[in-house]
Amino acid sequence: SRDSTFVRSWIEAFFDRVEENQKYLTKLDSAIGDGDHGQNMVRGLRAAVQSLNDSDTRETLRNVAMSIISKTGGASGPLYGTLFMEAGKTAPDGPIALSDWAAMMRAGLDGVQRRGKAETGEKTMVDALTPAVEALESAVEQDASWSDALSDAAAAAKDGMESTTPMIATKGRASYLGDRSAGHQDPGATSSFYLFAAAVDANE
Ligand code: ADP
Ligand code: MG
Ligand code: MG
Repeated sequence: SRDSTFVRSWIEAFFDRVEENQKYLTKLDSAIGDGDHGQNMVRGLRAAVQSLNDSDTRETLRNVAMSIISKTGGASGPLYGTLFMEAGKTAPDGPIALSDWAAMMRAGLDGVQRRGKAETGEKTMVDALTPAVEALESAVEQDASWSDALSDAAAAAKDGMESTTPMIATKGRASYLGDRSAGHQDPGATSSFYLFAAAVDANE
């Protein structure tokens, strides 16, 4: 099992990945949006990292969600805020089993979809999150190790992220471009890949 220390490392690793790739996220969002996704995510996650203390998992994720909602501009703020809020509500009181982690990520994705109304194929973060959550759930069914489950989920998120390139956006700012949104990787799907890659980092 894992605990709140793992969750803190996960948030820190997510911030590190986003900060390292801030310019890249900005470039992706400049092609099909307004060029602020890198800055939005760095601002929100910096506040999230500052909120970390020795609270339990549920309180930790609530603080992360509140920080992101208050500090991240744009569409992605409320969406990631909801993801962490719902994951926190679904977290167990004590140790986190792999099945708990899968349930937390599923609840986060459900929250994103309730809020943003996007299904897969609409060129959003949902396209990276959905296969990652599904990979976690099948790892649970197969009784896989944490390390295999997290790396399968990150690989699935990466494929999902890459799958957004040919898509035509039908949600969010990129949808204003219509057919011209095709041929560019979605910035939000890219940051969602970093979210799952960060769980691998935190497990090392
Ligand atoms: P904004 O578009 O307001 O500038 P960001 O640039 O921070 O916000 O985030 C853009 C990302 O948000 C998109 O790349 C997309 O992945 C995600 N997004 C936008 N709308 C939705 C939605 N309705 N559902 C899921 N994700 C969405
Ligand atoms: Mg933007
Ligand atoms: Mg914006």
